[in-house]
Amino acid sequence: MSMKIYNTLSKAKEEFVPLEPGKVKMYVCGPTVYNYIHIGNARPMIVFDTVRRYMEHKGYEVNYVSNFTDVDDKIIKKANEEGVESEVISKRFIEECKKDMEALNVRPATTHPQATQEIGGMIEMIDTLIRKGHAYAVEDGTVYFRTRSFPGYGKLSHKNLDELQGGNRSLLVSGEDQKEDALDFVLWKPKKEGEPYWRSPWCNGRPGWHIECSVMSKRYLGEEIDIHAGGEDLIFPHHENEIAQSEAANGKPFARYWMHNAFLNIDNKKMSKSAGNFFTVREILEKYDPQIVRFFMLSAHYRSPLNFSAELMEAAKNGYDRIVTSVENLNYLLGKASCAQMTEEEKKLAEDAAGFADRFDEAMDDDFNTADAISVIFELVKFANTNASGDSSREFLQALKDEILLLSDICGLTVERKQEMLDADIEALIAERQAARKAKNFARADQIRNELLEKGIILEDTREGVKWKRA
Ligand code: AMP
Ligand code: ZN
Repeated sequence: MSMKIYNTLSKAKEEFVPLEPGKVKMYVCGPTVYNYIHIGNARPMIVFDTVRRYMEHKGYEVNYVSNFTDVDDKIIKKANEEGVESEVISKRFIEECKKDMEALNVRPATTHPQATQEIGGMIEMIDTLIRKGHAYAVEDGTVYFRTRSFPGYGKLSHKNLDELQGGNRSLLVSGEDQKEDALDFVLWKPKKEGEPYWRSPWCNGRPGWHIECSVMSKRYLGEEIDIHAGGEDLIFPHHENEIAQSEAANGKPFARYWMHNAFLNIDNKKMSKSAGNFFTVREILEKYDPQIVRFFMLSAHYRSPLNFSAELMEAAKNGYDRIVTSVENLNYLLGKASCAQMTEEEKKLAEDAAGFADRFDEAMDDDFNTADAISVIFELVKFANTNASGDSSREFLQALKDEILLLSDICGLTVERKQEMLDADIEALIAERQAARKAKNFARADQIRNELLEKGIILEDTREGVKWKRA
């Protein structure tokens, strides 16, 4: 079965054909790190992590690159407010962002480049663009991209230059009067007092935002890549400008498929830091299990807007719990099952159950329709609940459980809860250990200590007796 991806470039679903068979080169624009990420930022992270997981499930080797934008006006502002270097702020929030990603089961990228570590490559690409006539430096050292020199400009956002010209006229009056044309955009800009800067042939300064991604994508994935992705607010101007820079500099098509997620909204308005209508992932995780947040994000198709509300989170909780409860039930039955091998009748049922995996793949092959894929998991859960019983064989129960776990895992959902030891069971084992010690049966005492340690229970022998805590 082939996989179809909606490509913003063609505004159509296209069959996915990678540049190199069996391999996927994918770049996802990452956050600007000046604060904790909000749950709107978490949407592309979860969505494209799921795309990556599904592609790996289909046997592709995925080289997944996602950057951190660590030089930016907002980072500098925050650093000045705190009286520290920009680097202190970006380093702190990269670490915090990684913690949020881990909680949400978003796997680390193959590479997480940082803009400030790639300045040499940016200067090189800007230099190439100037040599090829696609960019120019003005008196104060600012370098602009000559937008009209790139014939394909507007092909991603499906805008024509005249339309853009009208829209951008205001830029000319706002001080950027050294530009040749209102459509030109910044590649390099001079430093201002108190800002981090790097030396360049044009002036001491720093790169524009768009050139960062063109360069990091080229460095870690090569001049031509399979998929470039991000939220739909990045289509214009960020991704349009990336295409212009990369294709003008490299003389090759940049990315074959452009994927964009729709917004996570609150009251039908885009959640954003600047509008102030946001919740950080950290705040949300105080209230909800991270698995439920992930489930919520995947319960809609990634190109549909998703409204964040207490009701939808409650629905996500119920949906997720339905899967978890089914797995718990299968575990309970597995613990009691007396018969090992499948009966002939169970073999037939197991074949039917395998059909759910095909339907799951069909939904995912259709532009990663996670909403439909989750419905298939629900149907599988219903099938398991109906057909598993106290008389089922272990092999049959295990087959059902494995399939639920496999499909959930492709979505990055952990649906098997770790069995926590009850306090009473811990106390009982500790009492047994004390008795063993008294009887000088130290082997048994050590065995109990290790057994508890394996379950994450740490014992401490104090003068007042044995104390314990969970790791
Ligand atoms: P930023 O830090 O604003 O550059 O955003 C990082 C990523 O999050 C980009 O891919 C944005 O498109 C995406 N993003 C920001 N806000 C939202 C939102 N409310 N819904 C979905 N994606 C968003
Ligand atoms: Zn980018």
